[in-house]
Amino acid sequence: MLKGKGVSTGVGFGNIVVLKKVERKIEKKTIENEQVEQELERLHEALNQVIDETETQMKNMSGTEADIMQAYVMIMQDPSLIPETENAIKNSHYNAEYAVEVGFNSVIQIFENMDDEYMASRARDILDIKNRVLGKLFKEENIDLSKLNPNTIIVATELTTSETAKLDFKHVSGIITELGGENSHTSIMARTHTIPAITKVEEATKIFKDGDSVAINGTSGEIYVNPTEEEKQKLLDLEKQLEEEKSELDKYRNQESVTKDGTKVKLYANIGIPADAEIAVNNTAEGVGLLRSEFLYMDSDTMPSEESQFEAYKKVAEIMKDKEAIIRTLDIGGDKELKYLTLEKEANPFLGYRAIRLCLDNPTIFKTQLRAILRASAFGKLAIMFPMISSIEELRAAKEVLEECKQELDNENILYDKNIQVGIMIEIPSAALIADKLAKECDFFSIGTNDLIQYTVAVERGNEKISKLYTKYHPAVIKLIKKAIDGAHSANIICGMCGEAAGDPTFIPLLVGLGLDEFSMNSNNILRARKTINNLDKETCVKLSEEILQMASAEEVEKRLGQFGTFLFGPFIKK
Ligand code: PEP
Ligand code: MG
Repeated sequence: MLKGKGVSTGVGFGNIVVLKKVERKIEKKTIENEQVEQELERLHEALNQVIDETETQMKNMSGTEADIMQAYVMIMQDPSLIPETENAIKNSHYNAEYAVEVGFNSVIQIFENMDDEYMASRARDILDIKNRVLGKLFKEENIDLSKLNPNTIIVATELTTSETAKLDFKHVSGIITELGGENSHTSIMARTHTIPAITKVEEATKIFKDGDSVAINGTSGEIYVNPTEEEKQKLLDLEKQLEEEKSELDKYRNQESVTKDGTKVKLYANIGIPADAEIAVNNTAEGVGLLRSEFLYMDSDTMPSEESQFEAYKKVAEIMKDKEAIIRTLDIGGDKELKYLTLEKEANPFLGYRAIRLCLDNPTIFKTQLRAILRASAFGKLAIMFPMISSIEELRAAKEVLEECKQELDNENILYDKNIQVGIMIEIPSAALIADKLAKECDFFSIGTNDLIQYTVAVERGNEKISKLYTKYHPAVIKLIKKAIDGAHSANIICGMCGEAAGDPTFIPLLVGLGLDEFSMNSNNILRARKTINNLDKETCVKLSEEILQMASAEEVEKRLGQFGTFLFGPFIKK
């Protein structure tokens, strides 16, 4: 039995698929005259394979996606692209791999130097094609993550967020990685899709082989290779227990989210891609408190157009019908990269050029998104939320760009919700400390504890070495949460929370006591959260929060909240 850190509860049985990170080394070789034909043939074979693959992918696509693929095929068939590479083989006698490197690079450079922004951005497409052609020449096996066999257990060093976004979730029974923390976006997505996941499994990509039969326990982090009957039974028993808890929670499906003494709260879902809105509705979410719009950007090979974003947000609005859906504007940077947006390497990316800072600095990117959200707001109840606000100036600047977009749409006679609500995330201590001022200039807050914790205690959220210090129970974090809630209420606006803490049953009593109005969480935590809230008494929670606010240490806070939860619900509560 192997052991890692369980980051997404559940039991999974299946066969391993290892995602190996390939390190390509392109060697410059000089070939003999008689090898020229053979190298040309290898080049064309690789090109044709990429064309065939692209055409097959296109069959399942429509709209912008299909247009992009069609453009790829046209580029690959463009007579000006290939001769550069062929000449590198014929005239310079380079091997096919090196010829592709120099041939494609010279064309990439021509495109990059073009003044026309559209043409310049084609350079990225050619770079992408170059990588795919090289992949064929190196005979790299490319696993299509969107088409996996049933019961696949993915093993990887680390899954990038965009790889996770591509996963064929229906067929994934588990995820095992060597790196990644509990709050990494991959772990969050695994939990949304109720896929058991385990991280911190050293050398997993070496230990496991494709096809290995394994059973995993995403709660304890245990992995059994070729499980014995006894081990299988142990996991099946656990699966049954989880199922029982699930059916017990089913009775909260049609209930209101209200404390025993009548305080109503909103239970919302966090989602990554528009299709997740279905999962939210199935789990009886009363709205979407956070759509992490960056997934849309990470799942694309180029900057998504206004049209494609409009379609995505409209889909969310339509799935949610009359329920609210809060779209967070692009929150890129930190641990989230866009392969087509080259940003300078920074010493401290989490403190750097990211989220609203990047958007305000790139009005074209920002306006494209805001226009798309505004247009989609005509089809449902959408709201806009700005991430990483640290000052009132940023909030004002973002609202100004939004006003410009509204003005443009008015001039173009395009419909949108004129009363669209505009809110901000409180995830930086400076924002929490001036919450009363910010609240006067926006319609709602949502506290992002995932980041608020890291900025308050100066502990990077994904850094395992210091993960013990990353805690929501720190009295300073709790004081900032209170400051945000009180600030919102002083201006009569709603305060929500969309960080992971909002879905933790041990933390919810404290949040109810502090007066949080909206709790947004992974869809599969909603019923458990409703059960928690419906069994609470607001008065008691207020007293509990007053007691907690006097405490000096995280340990004390955690212990007290643990006791409170156990007293109310028994020891079964799992974090
Ligand atoms: C947060 O910081 O709490 C949050 C919800 O945003 P993200 O996890 O996407 O940074
Ligand atoms: Mg955040």
